[in-house]
Amino acid sequence: MDGDYSQPRCRRCLLSEIDRDGVYKTVLEYLASLDDAVRCGADEYASRLRICRACDRLSDGMCSLCGCFVEVRAAKKMQTCPDLPHRWE
Ligand code: SF4
Repeated sequence: MDGDYSQPRCRRCLLSEIDRDGVYKTVLEYLASLDDAVRCGADEYASRLRICRACDRLSDGMCSLCGCFVEVRAAKKMQTCPDLPHRWE
């Protein structure tokens, strides 16, 4: 991801709140392409993102443990939090 990283990193921010270099648009396009069989429900997705927002591992929309954009990782129902597998339940 290209970008101006001279700016302070945004801890506890989701990519949707940063929109650095338009990456979030690409993420949204990817999320829209997910099959319903893969995608978690809207309520569960929102719950997962609330948990990520409160997590010290979140930085610039990415999980510092796995390197995923949390908005992508949390969208797939079979995924788990890499720190605590039951954290999102
Ligand atoms: S995936 Fe887990 S470890 Fe990573 S930011 Fe979210 S809650 Fe934290």
